[in-house]
Amino acid sequence: MEIPKKGLIDLHVHLDGSLSFDMARELAKMQGMEIKSEEALKRLMVVPSDCQDLNDYLTKFDYSLELLQTEKAITYSVCELLKIQKAQGLTYSEIRFAPQLHIRKGLRQEQVVAAAVRGLQGFSSSLILCCMRGADNQALNLETVEVAREYLGKGVVALDLAGAETLFPTKKFESIFREAGRKGIPFTIHAGEADGPESIWAALEFGASRIGHGIRCLEDRTLVRRLEKDKIPLELCPTSNINTKVFKNITDYPILKILDEGIKVTINTDNMTVSNTTVRRELQLLADTFHLSEIEIGHLIKNAEESMFENKK
Ligand SMILES: [Zn+2]
Repeated sequence: MEIPKKGLIDLHVHLDGSLSFDMARELAKMQGMEIKSEEALKRLMVVPSDCQDLNDYLTKFDYSLELLQTEKAITYSVCELLKIQKAQGLTYSEIRFAPQLHIRKGLRQEQVVAAAVRGLQGFSSSLILCCMRGADNQALNLETVEVAREYLGKGVVALDLAGAETLFPTKKFESIFREAGRKGIPFTIHAGEADGPESIWAALEFGASRIGHGIRCLEDRTLVRRLEKDKIPLELCPTSNINTKVFKNITDYPILKILDEGIKVTINTDNMTVSNTTVRRELQLLADTFHLSEIEIGHLIKNAEESMFENKK
């Protein structure tokens, strides 16, 4: 079947993983940096077929982050990404990034977020601010929560927790999300991707209203029932999970099982450039591999519509 060309939604897309090569070149030019060749950009920003795991995948963000350290660069990249998403038939997106990764040249997190908000033009989109998994960044994460509160309803719709799941387990970040809860900021958390069901349990205990990935919930029956009963949306990103070797091939991807379980799932890109994909491509891949019907695809799109943070203001 053919995927609709309009009305698509991406609820899980990282800004730094989704800069097009044109954007990367323009950003380099803007900042007097070396303009890289197509080949070099591919090597720096797109995951190779022999990618080892999530930690390996995360190295593909280094160059983009180098380009995104000024207010002008951040505003430009959000604005350009929206143009691309609009051209791809999206009607809404929630773009996420970690303000604390954009402060290397002296910006404050508040300035980073203000610059991103200025980029939200001409298209219906919102921002999700990521806290980062790390050993010694508690103060930076708390600052992200503060800034999210300040901009909630003014471009920002939620918080997230991103980074290396197995190195820094979800449960270590409880105080951050308790604080978010106290401040009334909704959040999603990357969980059940590289790490197992216990990371999803921790996210739910903190009060997450969505789960980033969450595909490994299938390893725990009680958890599956809980997600289904509470209608907690999962932000699935199939190609990204193949890249990071959560599953070897797309044919191993348990979409039919997860749909059978009645869990509310949405289909997203994660990183348009790193994973070389679009929402339409992700849906097409699932439709082709698993012979999904028009009704099933329509259902996945509707799930995304119903799971937007914007609806929960
Ligand atoms: Zn992600």
